[in-house]
Amino acid sequence: SKPVVAVVGRPNVGKSTLFNALAGSRISIVEDTPGVTRDRIYAEVSWLDYQFTLIDTGGIEPESDDIIISRMREQAETAIMTADVILFLVDVRQGLVDADFKVADMLRRSHRPVLLVVNKVDNFEKYMPDVYEFYNLGLGDPIPVSAQGKLGIGDMLDHVIEQF
Ligand code: GDP
Ligand code: MG
Repeated sequence: SKPVVAVVGRPNVGKSTLFNALAGSRISIVEDTPGVTRDRIYAEVSWLDYQFTLIDTGGIEPESDDIIISRMREQAETAIMTADVILFLVDVRQGLVDADFKVADMLRRSHRPVLLVVNKVDNFEKYMPDVYEFYNLGLGDPIPVSAQGKLGIGDMLDHVIEQF
């Protein structure tokens, strides 16, 4: 069966925007499973000769920092259990925050392939110095994208299919 790729990250980093950019029109919404996760959204994505299922592991409402961190833990656990490749999305405009380090630790310990994708890099020249900060997460080379501007998406997908 097709590989599964899951997108995880804090509220407002651009997960849904990235998902929609990759999904085109073929999106199916799966209902809430009470007590397990929020709704999960699936899309079938093709890139070169590869096809994979992309999962947006669901919305986290911006609440208190503690609640965001505990919800991100759930989200990361779901991704670790179900995904062949995890896209950990961070936001170059917000920079690195404590929650990113906590989730990075979980993902690193999972021994799953994780790609660190830095979103909102709408101007590569301007933001590259900030992108390098994300090396501090210990998840390897940060991959710059602009989900909104559809920049860097092809390079990111090349990295994804390398993991299959
Ligand atoms: P999510 O909560 O992680 O799903 O984030 P959303 O996809 O809902 O995006 C949160 C906000 O960031 C929205 O206002 C988006 O328009 C904005 N956003 C998403 N991607 C980009 C990007 O590449 N560049 C910029 N400048 N804004 C973006
Ligand atoms: Mg969202």
